[in-house]
Amino acid sequence: MRVTRLAPSPTGALHLGNARTFLVNWWMARQRGWRVVLRIEDLDGPRVKAGADRAAMDDLRWLGIDWVEGPTYQSGRAAIYKSAAERLLAAGRAYPCVCTRREVELAASAPHAEDGAAVYSGACRGRFDSVEAARAHAGREPAVRFAVPDQAVEFMDKFRGRTSINPARELGDFVILKADGTAAYQLAVVIDDAETGVTDVVRGDDLIDSTPRQMLLYDALGMRERVPAYWHLPLVVGTDGRRLAKRHGDTRLAYYRERGVRAERVVGLLARWSGIEAPDEASAADLVSRFDLGRMSTEQVVFTAADDPWLRSARLR
Ligand SMILES: [Zn+2]
Repeated sequence: MRVTRLAPSPTGALHLGNARTFLVNWWMARQRGWRVVLRIEDLDGPRVKAGADRAAMDDLRWLGIDWVEGPTYQSGRAAIYKSAAERLLAAGRAYPCVCTRREVELAASAPHAEDGAAVYSGACRGRFDSVEAARAHAGREPAVRFAVPDQAVEFMDKFRGRTSINPARELGDFVILKADGTAAYQLAVVIDDAETGVTDVVRGDDLIDSTPRQMLLYDALGMRERVPAYWHLPLVVGTDGRRLAKRHGDTRLAYYRERGVRAERVVGLLARWSGIEAPDEASAADLVSRFDLGRMSTEQVVFTAADDPWLRSARLR
């Protein structure tokens, strides 16, 4: 049985951009008989907004997207991630790091990675014999970084084709456990996907940099055979070419729903953005058989000035 996951992050509301990725993921699952599980990626404590998890689930259901298992919350799984980090430390695949954010930025050996994080210089690699030694040196809890081997990681992206990234050069040793003891994104995702038996990951191509890092973690944790198939889809952007965000106006699903726009109208737009010659209004379920991944453009989708009035022109009476 193949398994995919929908993994909203409750740091903000679902908007037309991430809704399209979720909907395409769901259409693919429906067509191919994948089991759909829901996971709430709520590890980023300070950025998590109260109630955003429920709101994301309401938005997904409103669109007609369902799942058979979950939600599971990453915030409830800290001990599992921590023990994985300890295994990597014990195996010499990870090491304690006492650098402050400012030190990391000052010592950056390369320009900033795509996600805005400075590429870590590796200053603490091989520096301490143990976490205890690092703690004693710094007088506080160290973070834990994964020691990224200097090699290109190749994978066959099922949507984009063959992709090769050298995470050591482009991204550096990355944090897997923060100084406050919470897991970082890459480690948590690998542990969760492996445990849930996820076989197919469909996500926005802003996360393509994560894939080689996650593959290296699978390998280091002795789970190479569990690496899922990856499908990285192009993002929805504004006319300025930047990822859809507040600067492009209010594109939250809740915004349209509150204004009486039917979900079928929103699905109609998301379908058009996904290469379906759909009627202006349709349910997600009606379009399962009409969706064709091969007809979906590999170009970014542009949210234009006409899209918002088009959606709002079909309000419920
Ligand atoms: Zn360091």
